[in-house]
Amino acid sequence: MAETDECDVLVVGLGPAGAAAATAAAKAGARVLAVERRQALGGVSNCPEFIPIPLGLHAATDHVVIQNIVGSRDHRSNGDQAENLLPGCVVNRDAFDRALVDFSRAAGARLQHNAVFAGLDADHSEATLSRDGRSFVVRYRALVAADGHASAVARLLGLRPLIKMYTLRYRVALMAPLQAVEVWLSPKYPGGYAWLIPAGKHAVIATGMAQELAEAALRDLHKQLHEAGIVGSAILGHSAGAVPVEGLRQKLTHGNILFAGDAGGLAHPLTGAGIHPAVVSGEAAGRAAAEWSTGHLGAIPAYEAKMRGQFGETMSRALRRREPLQSPVGAELGRPGLEASGWSVVRGAFEP
Ligand SMILES: Cc1cc2nc3c(=O)[nH]c(=O)nc-3n(C[C@H](O)[C@H](O)[C@H](O)COP(=O)(O)OP(=O)(O)OC[C@H]3O[C@@H](n4cnc5c(N)ncnc54)[C@H](O)[C@@H]3O)c2cc1C
Repeated sequence: MAETDECDVLVVGLGPAGAAAATAAAKAGARVLAVERRQALGGVSNCPEFIPIPLGLHAATDHVVIQNIVGSRDHRSNGDQAENLLPGCVVNRDAFDRALVDFSRAAGARLQHNAVFAGLDADHSEATLSRDGRSFVVRYRALVAADGHASAVARLLGLRPLIKMYTLRYRVALMAPLQAVEVWLSPKYPGGYAWLIPAGKHAVIATGMAQELAEAALRDLHKQLHEAGIVGSAILGHSAGAVPVEGLRQKLTHGNILFAGDAGGLAHPLTGAGIHPAVVSGEAAGRAAAEWSTGHLGAIPAYEAKMRGQFGETMSRALRRREPLQSPVGAELGRPGLEASGWSVVRGAFEP
């Protein structure tokens, strides 16, 4: 017979959304179990990523912030440039995620790594997890699904996968310091765009577009930036990933299950910026799950309403701007001739 465990709040996934949820639920007095399938807790890559000013407090730990950012500059294919205020900072993503996980542990959450969420009996509030080749069942009062864009919780609830944009990035040397995120909007990046995030002596250059075209486009961008003396010729590291780009799930809550972060579709549909909404929704979901587990039945509907109020309009606006570019992503993202109409909407991603 499988071992059993129980908790008030089960958090699946320990990225930014899950770590924020575990911390908030533990601080609210809930018995929290947070599980992560990866071997180590916190940190998906040591790649630099951008976070906006409102998340600054979460990045206060030593060695998290690499440099400050003042704005972004859009480069259009006709040569026009537009500068936007975009205060924030570039963080070492690995260190940022690890710091969030440390906050959860300090708040009293029980954390288990190498534990894969593999089965769900939502009617009886039971999850099956597998760890080191053994299965165990966890009985929960509320579950926070923070397991990313390919959410297993969503799949096991019978929900369809979210539409995604594929991103590919290189880490390269930066020849002179930059204070802005550079963004290229061009038919060369159909349905998406390319960008450069400065990170001290390094930079990340990336493309977000149709998967099959992304690599050639990134190689081309790298060559151009190297020839212009902006970045070095060597590729010091590379990584790839996907971000959900269809906006919020139709429902963020299903009974006593709450979706947060990428699992809820909470990344910005145009820019793919997802760290800020992941932390904000994770904190709110963790608090709501803890309240629900002590009998506040309005807590979960209030979470759904709060997230729609906070992110719904920004996401819908971005989706309307994305509409001519993709529908429904995949092959269509590769349609030549389409140029994103502006990236400055990234600011909207962080509006309260
Ligand atoms: C290449 C790239 C660059 C990006 N750059 C930026 C940027 O500069 N700024 C920004 O704001 N956003 C950026 N994003 C988006 C950002 O990374 C995500 O929006 C953010 O990580 C979402 O956090 P999350 O906690 O919801 O999900 P995730 O970070 O994906 O965390 C989900 C966690 O759940 C775990 N998990 C999954 N399935 C299971 C399971 N069955 N059992 C147990 N655990 C499970 C995973 O291992 C993972 O640790 C980028 C994304 C990519 C791909």
